[in-house]
Amino acid sequence: MTGGAATRFAPAPTGRLHLGHLANAIYVWGFARRLGGRVLLRIEDHDRQRCRPEYEAALLDDLDRLALAADEPSTDELRAGPSPYRQSDCGPIYEAALEELARATDVYACDCSRATFTAWREASGRSWSGPGCPGGCLGRGLESRSGLTLRAALGSGEEGWDDLLLGPQSGAVSSDGDLPVRDRNGNWTYGFCVVVDDIRHGVDLVVRGSDLSDATPAQVRLARLLRRPVAPRFAHHPLIRRADGSKLSKADGATAIAELLDTGRSREQLFGEVLQRLGLARAGEPVPFEEATALVG
Ligand SMILES: [Zn+2]
Repeated sequence: MTGGAATRFAPAPTGRLHLGHLANAIYVWGFARRLGGRVLLRIEDHDRQRCRPEYEAALLDDLDRLALAADEPSTDELRAGPSPYRQSDCGPIYEAALEELARATDVYACDCSRATFTAWREASGRSWSGPGCPGGCLGRGLESRSGLTLRAALGSGEEGWDDLLLGPQSGAVSSDGDLPVRDRNGNWTYGFCVVVDDIRHGVDLVVRGSDLSDATPAQVRLARLLRRPVAPRFAHHPLIRRADGSKLSKADGATAIAELLDTGRSREQLFGEVLQRLGLARAGEPVPFEEATALVG
């Protein structure tokens, strides 16, 4: 690409922005600055049951309060109406990508439930691992309809990548079975949308939490099937955790950005707290965002 790397900050509006998002933002902007790249803002609201417009509105307000401005689009552009950077506005794009994918490989309806996977594990003594699905749905010719998962056969084997933070990585493409592209409720899946979006938005640097590194082999393979000539680079960063070591979730009100700012904490104090939880700064030191990004890029 010309003009340096393009990366993205891509929250899902399923809850309030919390300190975990701030850790991701520091890494996203940090790598963008180090590599002379741009940051795109993308609203990942592919899950229509879990995402809510009021969470998106709050998320945009929180970004403004934190003075976290993407190069494209502005928060006001997203507030103004439909946007190519909001997944729920892009249904026809995913339909078209699905058609292209179906020309490259098998896409099929699957009626396997969680119970199907459990029954397979109990019968065989090990967890299901792909490709395919435990019910053998690829060969059953089920009609695609609501209530069934749509899967894409990505094939077998592994895909590797040289992670900017983790070093050389590789993993099985279909370790949990063939990739779901649309779930039983009719939602496009995370694993499908992000690959389509990164192609159409020209994103060539994916910076995200290390909990998503297991999803990367399937995404590398899917991108190739969608005729992406070169895979993006990846940087999977550490997650911040609760004091007891468990993963932060959106339900952790104590870490919601808006509440912390409302109680008088400054932006710099929040950035400092995140850096401290990442082991990158001493406790209690406020850190300006520019300095925070310089510590991780
Ligand atoms: Zn199945």
